Amino acid sequence: MLQLDGFSVEQAAFMFCAAAVQSGLIDEEERAYCLNGVLDILQLSAPQEAASLLPLSRLGEFLVACAAEKGLCQDTEEARERFSVRLFGVVTPSPRAVREGFARLLAEKGSQSATQWLHQLGVNNEYIHTHRARENVSFISQKGLEVLISIYQKERDPKATHTRPRSAVGYPYCPLCRENVGYAGRQGYPARQNLRQVPITLGQESWYLQYSPSPAFSQHCVALRGQHSPHLMVAKSFDKMLDFVDQFPHWFIGANADLPVVGGFILSHAHLIGGKHVFPVEQADAWFAFDPGVPGVTGEALRWSITTLKLISKDRAPMMEALALLLARWRTHSDQSLGLVARTTVNHNALTPMLRKTAKGYVCYVALRNNYATPEHPLGLFHPHARHHHIKRENIGLLEAMGLFVLPGRLKQELQAVERFLQGQEDLNWDDPHREWAEGLQQGLPESLDAAGVTQYVRQAVGQVCEEALQDAGVYKQNAQGEQGLQVFLAGLKA
Ligand SMILES: [Zn+2]
Repeated sequence: MLQLDGFSVEQAAFMFCAAAVQSGLIDEEERAYCLNGVLDILQLSAPQEAASLLPLSRLGEFLVACAAEKGLCQDTEEARERFSVRLFGVVTPSPRAVREGFARLLAEKGSQSATQWLHQLGVNNEYIHTHRARENVSFISQKGLEVLISIYQKERDPKATHTRPRSAVGYPYCPLCRENVGYAGRQGYPARQNLRQVPITLGQESWYLQYSPSPAFSQHCVALRGQHSPHLMVAKSFDKMLDFVDQFPHWFIGANADLPVVGGFILSHAHLIGGKHVFPVEQADAWFAFDPGVPGVTGEALRWSITTLKLISKDRAPMMEALALLLARWRTHSDQSLGLVARTTVNHNALTPMLRKTAKGYVCYVALRNNYATPEHPLGLFHPHARHHHIKRENIGLLEAMGLFVLPGRLKQELQAVERFLQGQEDLNWDDPHREWAEGLQQGLPESLDAAGVTQYVRQAVGQVCEEALQDAGVYKQNAQGEQGLQVFLAGLKA
């Protein structure tokens, strides 16, 4: 039988619940109740007391290993993960207790304390994968983009969006539906017994707030509509974003574009993305000022590769009006000289907005997006071009548009192979997707770089690819022709 630092599984089960009390997940009154739940799923007849206390995460890992040994769960990574979530679900407060706890803190101490508490709950019960985040690779590019190679990010096809349920089971209907709370999971679909949400009201609709299980930044959260309905950007969407920052002024809120390839992966369920992060775009200099066409709102085009406008308004109503106007005008704006086609049989123009509330008032960063594809660029004229796909083939979503590039986990190993290639330790296959790029890097490789220097050199080169991919996605390039084209569009706001 397995042991953990000399402790038996019965002792570990006892300590698991004691540690859950100590972390604040459950209170002492509930300990026996939760322990019985743990004994049940581990098929143990009785616990054994232990005076010691080990970290909850180590105890959880050990109990999962015991379950796999006993044949209570399959010995695959996915099945172990599901069992672990089930175990942590037992020591997670009920949805009602979480709702009430959040509401109490909100009333007594404000939204910052309440969201911090909900976040800590998700960290403690391992819903938020902070332990795995340590394996991620992150660095800053020469021009200030943040690059994150996320080990839990599987690369997705830019054209694939959740327009229908993932499998014949059809339940939960989509990954953002409320029915995920408490769901046991199945092969190919994660368990969510440790997921908790709290209700919020946005645009007079019933929405829910939860954290992302795989955060790309601090307090990465998602607001999702209570009802399963498509993610569409209309004037009312801005009302919801404004409601959000009025309630959570310590966070930004943003939305993906509502079209495939330039939008997020889940277009079937209305949602917003928020959190504590400050994005590189917020440091960008002004390119030129413009009049957004609504009194009380000032506008600036930014020196930023993907065309981004910054709107500032002291008051809420003018900001709402300016964003609605911008959306309406942009939806129909074409420019033949730049290959910008607003509409064929479907819409091609969309916005990627990110809003926050500051001492100056509401500040909104809005990226102008277009997903029109040409024979030369079948994934989109304003999508990362083919030569950048070995690094970034996926959508330029909200995070990338604002300067945080989330790259697929496969790159962690692939870039190590490129480093070995540059150090002459290993060849790359002739059909390796990085081969051509790596050969170019080899030519520019400074002499006498040590291993750490080569790592830095490759990271800077990845950063360079991200910068170029962002330029590809920009409708109006940062040159005279781009400026002229953008001025023409912006002049239309006053018409
Ligand atoms: Zn849904």
